Amino acid sequence: MTKMIPLLQRNEQFAAAYTPGPLGPPATQVAIVTCLDHRVDPAVILGLQLGDAVVIRNTGGRVTPAVIDDIAFLAFLAGQLFSGVVAAEGLFEVAVVHHTQCGTGFLADPGFRHQAAESTGMPEAALEATAVADPHTTVRADVERLLAAPSLSPLVSVSGHVYDIATGRVTTVVDARRPQLAGKN
Ligand SMILES: [Zn+2]
Repeated sequence: MTKMIPLLQRNEQFAAAYTPGPLGPPATQVAIVTCLDHRVDPAVILGLQLGDAVVIRNTGGRVTPAVIDDIAFLAFLAGQLFSGVVAAEGLFEVAVVHHTQCGTGFLADPGFRHQAAESTGMPEAALEATAVADPHTTVRADVERLLAAPSLSPLVSVSGHVYDIATGRVTTVVDARRPQLAGKN
């Protein structure tokens, strides 16, 4: 017995009315990086429809090496498949969205972090790096981290935003910009 049964019933309804679309760039030309928290579903809070945006989610919505790799691959793919369509204005924008009341905020507490490390086997330093205690601070840091990544395409721009769980409002903290070309090749 799987807890998926009611969800599969919803999928039946979805599939009954479904029309497949052609392969193309995401309609909004945005890739969202955000937390896996179930209160922070980009489709719901940003009104996304199927095919609108790429969404990458992990604990805290942090720009990790894995996220940087995903974005480098997406840029490669977009350049290969859709360069004629989107290259003039850049391939896409990565919007990093952190949120208030993030569960990773507990990891800022050394005692909690120590327990988490013992329970999960993850290094304490890695857990500390995941913590989003102040989303305004971490989202700025992660935008800079992504912009500084050697593998980031100069045709990709990056912006930073904070979602407030209390109000439902998303506020832009860092405007979109592309990586500095100096030092990149
Ligand atoms: Zn979170």
